[in-house]
Amino acid sequence: MAIDRVGIGTDLHRLAPGRKLVLGHVAIDHDKGPVGHSDGDVVLHAVIDAIAGAAGLPDIGEMFPDTDPAYRGADSGTLLAAALRRVVEAGYAVVNVDVTIHAERPRLSPHKAAIRAEVARLLGVANEAVSIKAKTNEGQDAIGRGEAIGATVVAGLRKLEVRSEK
Ligand code: MG
Repeated sequence: MAIDRVGIGTDLHRLAPGRKLVLGHVAIDHDKGPVGHSDGDVVLHAVIDAIAGAAGLPDIGEMFPDTDPAYRGADSGTLLAAALRRVVEAGYAVVNVDVTIHAERPRLSPHKAAIRAEVARLLGVANEAVSIKAKTNEGQDAIGRGEAIGATVVAGLRKLEVRSEK
């Protein structure tokens, strides 16, 4: 399937005890979770910026301002659904997303399949259109010390056929 546009999205959240860790809309057992206005799901936030960026739309902060109480504790799945509607309205469909999660802990291998299936479901694409990779930062920097978690996402979009007006 041809790709007409490419976008990149990145996100990083500080981790603190007593917060739930949610990655790609999947709850993961850990002693810390992201500090954030919404649920702090770095995977979905980076997916939103990647698909919005590819479609030439505003970034996640502009679409869903953290000064707006409507987004306090927001389920990022809902934010992704709204962003996806904007992408389709702009005349694009998602072809694939390639996700890298940057985390020292917990080990993400056991969760990759569930995250892949959930991101695919939210985007309305086949599992094969989604890749989930996980990397540690080798004990270096804030991510390496387990104080933060991050994600980098590249998305490919195709232009939807435009029906000619008669
Ligand atoms: Mg974020």
